[in-house]
Amino acid sequence: MSRSDRRRRQNRADRAGRPAAPPPLPQAAEPLVYRGMTVPYVTAYSAEVSEATSDPDLVLRPYPDGSRRLVFLNERPGERDHGVLWGRMRSARGEGVPAFASLHTGRQKEIVEAAGCQICAGPGELWLTPATVWKEYLAVRGAGAPFETSDPPVCRTCLPTATSQCPNMRGHGWVVLAAKTWTITGVRGYVADPERGLFGDDTNVALPGARNHDPAKLALTLAKGLVVTLNSITAHTDPARVRGLGQRRELPPPPAPPPPPAPSVVTAYVVRIPNPRTGD
Ligand SMILES: [Zn+2]
Repeated sequence: MSRSDRRRRQNRADRAGRPAAPPPLPQAAEPLVYRGMTVPYVTAYSAEVSEATSDPDLVLRPYPDGSRRLVFLNERPGERDHGVLWGRMRSARGEGVPAFASLHTGRQKEIVEAAGCQICAGPGELWLTPATVWKEYLAVRGAGAPFETSDPPVCRTCLPTATSQCPNMRGHGWVVLAAKTWTITGVRGYVADPERGLFGDDTNVALPGARNHDPAKLALTLAKGLVVTLNSITAHTDPARVRGLGQRRELPPPPAPPPPPAPSVVTAYVVRIPNPRTGD
């Protein structure tokens, strides 16, 4: 069975919302070091970073019902996953210098789907977040609310690396979140204005079956990472008090996208993305 077949099988959740089969972990990642720092598996390198929203093949295609959808003119298999279009980013791990503030789109997605460790790509064991982020969450959402994150888990072995290398956690502390359940509920991405094609700042957008899902908004979204929701959380500063990631739940499989309209409509009314946004 190929890796994509395994993924498809995994994506078919059973009625109880549990995964049909455990997702495969990526090949064991060779640890890369840059100036004495361990480079996490999900970190993008300078040779990989690009402005995904200014891809010349990216257009808004009109549909007979009056809606518009974001598509690549030469869309390839696998570029639409979880019911949303994914930004293109080449894979060249280790080429150039690490961009520690940027996650590689494909590797972030791969690690979250496999519930892997964002640093070594082994099995993930803990949800880790900066204390400042947790404090803001408590102030805005209140204790007991679901917590959304696009940070993949870490393993216990990599925890000291993660907390010592991140300037925020090193300076202001961190917490480990014990969740009763967790679910892939959304994507981090850019939403295009349906008339002008301009993209806004990155934001979380809900997937089909998740709370606040808006099909029209998702159809205008270019994804760059998966978002996980943790439920029934307690926060800890001692990782020994946290048993693991919690029970995984799956959203129902996304519906099939509508078939493309007739070619004459596509070429006549397609909206080209006018100019690149900055700050990707
Ligand atoms: Zn690890």
